[in-house]
Amino acid sequence: MNISNQPQPPLLGASDPAPVEIVNPAGRGDVLLVCEHAGREIPSSLGDLGIAASEMDRHIAYDIGARDLALMLSERLDAPLVAQRYSRLVIDCNRPTEADDSIPPVSDGTEIPANRNLDARERAQRATEIFEPFDRALAGAIRNRRPKAIFAIHSFNPVLRGVSRPWDIGFLYRKDARTSPALQRYLLAAAPDISIGMQEPYAISDQSDWFVPVHGERNGIAHSLIEVRNDHISHPEGVARFAGLLAGAIGDFMKKGD
Ligand SMILES: [Zn+2]
Repeated sequence: MNISNQPQPPLLGASDPAPVEIVNPAGRGDVLLVCEHAGREIPSSLGDLGIAASEMDRHIAYDIGARDLALMLSERLDAPLVAQRYSRLVIDCNRPTEADDSIPPVSDGTEIPANRNLDARERAQRATEIFEPFDRALAGAIRNRRPKAIFAIHSFNPVLRGVSRPWDIGFLYRKDARTSPALQRYLLAAAPDISIGMQEPYAISDQSDWFVPVHGERNGIAHSLIEVRNDHISHPEGVARFAGLLAGAIGDFMKKGD
């Protein structure tokens, strides 16, 4: 008997949550919010991924504070939010599934045993059960609601591989050179003390990114991927401050963009 012909048990079991969380689906704002690294669920069939529980509290597992910030923005802007519940260590929903670190075997120095030596079927299963439902939900929300702008909410670690990052907030974009600079202008006036990175802390590419190239650029919708330094939004006061600043910046952009 050829073992490869045996049916594969599903990745997600009956007790596992659905991958996609949609908040405020009937929101009346012109904006759609996305949070690909919101969650840190692990499908029960993958156990603990072979890593210590404390690793799941680190930025390698999810974007610390990003869901809280996205939830508050969703409320302030009356915008729907599409968020992923599973950890990016299971599969990264802001990367092409062909990317080497789509299912990272190592993340910021931590080995992820459950991601080592996966065969094609195991890789495909992560994509079909977690990445694709999220991607379809987001594409469907864009198609049905026709938002005037879409914003992905992320956070970054103050230090990566020993290098300190000087920015408080970053805007990632490539072809849409209007939206992110407009948000920057607002923040420069509203909060002159914060340091803003444009196309920082990393540069967008087709090989490493999904939201900007696929959902933003291909649809021709105004967009920006917003990265906030995670120590600013790891507590409620910081979340409220950055939600206020970003709701102001996005609101101002939407008003002027009409
Ligand atoms: Zn992220």
